[in-house]
Amino acid sequence: MRDDLILNLSGDSYFMREALRQAIRAFHADEVPVGAIIVRENKIISRAYNQVELLKDATAHAEILAITQAETAVRDWRLNDCTLYVTKEPCSMCAGAMVQSRIQRVVFGVSDSKAGAAGGTLNLLQYPTFNHRCEIKSGVLEGECLQLLKQFFSEKRTEAESSEWALRPDWPPHSQRPS
Ligand SMILES: [Zn+2]
Repeated sequence: MRDDLILNLSGDSYFMREALRQAIRAFHADEVPVGAIIVRENKIISRAYNQVELLKDATAHAEILAITQAETAVRDWRLNDCTLYVTKEPCSMCAGAMVQSRIQRVVFGVSDSKAGAAGGTLNLLQYPTFNHRCEIKSGVLEGECLQLLKQFFSEKRTEAESSEWALRPDWPPHSQRPS
């Protein structure tokens, strides 16, 4: 068997693909497609995707849900020996929760230059005066993570444009409206 056909069941790309699977579930649920998983001793102990719309809860980001699940799984609020994989760079709320739960390592796909708190705008994961700092790895399956977000927001824009047309019953003629 060729080397490149052997699946590496413990590498960062392998686990990021699992996080991506969660992000795809968010996409199909019409949520901003972000997925997260937490790994301990090479085993996935929690999986979650963004559920802000479903739960009508601004704190229901994939990472927060994954952290809560993982804490239940290990029956401890400390996740020192865990790695969190998330498809998009965490926001300040999620980065804060990662520090509080003492996650050892954070791996993310695509950076967020507007709201990222793992170096994109500020770095709360490695804030000098905090009592815990997380290791960071970025850019894992970046292209696929980005593609999913792009597709989601471009579909949202198209929907918004079509509903604008729907509010104008007589113009343009039906034949010329975007489908
Ligand atoms: Zn967040």
